[in-house]
Amino acid sequence: MAFPQTRMRRLRASAGLRGLVRETDVRAGQFVLPLFVTEAEGGAGGREAIATMPGVERLSLAAVVAEAQEVAALGIAAVMLFGLPAEKDEHGSGAWDPEGVVQLAIQAIKRAVPELLVITDVCLCEYTDHGHCGVLREDATVDNDATLELLARTAVSHARAGADLVAPSDMMDGRVRAIREELDGEGFSDTPILAYSAKFASAFYGPFREAADSAPAFGDRRGYQLDPANGREAVREALLDVQEGADMVMVKPALAYGDLIREVKRATRLPVAAYNVSGEYAMVKAAAAAGYLDERATVLEILTSLRRAGADTIITYHAKDAARWLR
Ligand SMILES: [Zn+2]
Repeated sequence: MAFPQTRMRRLRASAGLRGLVRETDVRAGQFVLPLFVTEAEGGAGGREAIATMPGVERLSLAAVVAEAQEVAALGIAAVMLFGLPAEKDEHGSGAWDPEGVVQLAIQAIKRAVPELLVITDVCLCEYTDHGHCGVLREDATVDNDATLELLARTAVSHARAGADLVAPSDMMDGRVRAIREELDGEGFSDTPILAYSAKFASAFYGPFREAADSAPAFGDRRGYQLDPANGREAVREALLDVQEGADMVMVKPALAYGDLIREVKRATRLPVAAYNVSGEYAMVKAAAAAGYLDERATVLEILTSLRRAGADTIITYHAKDAARWLR
């Protein structure tokens, strides 16, 4: 039946009716807040502002514990840790150092707030002096197979420090299998892998690179990250990660990739995380600061749209604000 028997506006007439038929919910228990932990002292109180990401700071070890306590009190499910080591080298050996900045942060957070999930980003780019996600060959391309062992070693060091989930973001072929085997062999068969499966070579990562000091010294990451034009290839990547043992898969970035959140979820049947990345955050913050957008309404609409697209989990720098607004 069509108009006039059918009137779509009937169920939109009041807040009560709209709530009754709302299809998508967003809550803090679905959020993951990325945190940047630095070995440096940081500024006042161990916190150093990041110019391109207003409201986000680099945190010292002491400050990251305080932040984790605040995050847990807001009902946010998890934090995801990125490390800023004092020293970098050719192979990124700080990544698997048992006394490394991320390993120490995991231990400190789990001691202080055991109920908060700690997810770790597993990659080498924050630890290599050249800023690429793996070890380099003579010709300055990234050596896939030689990188796998280092990633697996890094993931095990995170699990040993107490990480609840490990999240490889490097986009090397075969990394999920290599990490699964190493975790199982070292007694961490219960540690889940959240694979950055559909990670695109995106302009939206710009502000993060300042935050994590991880811009490549030369070239770019198009030799290993996905081409933004390729949706089928992204689904194929995700399916391969499932075969290799991924427990959850990720689509990154989020806003311009809603089609792939949906398709990856359909194809894999796994829980899907969407990473609402630094550039997406920075755009909203800049527009809100200029008075062009209502920040609260915009952020909640974005988060709802990612859930509607099919994301079970949302990794977002808006997590604390959104958790407060949703209370
Ligand atoms: Zn990387």
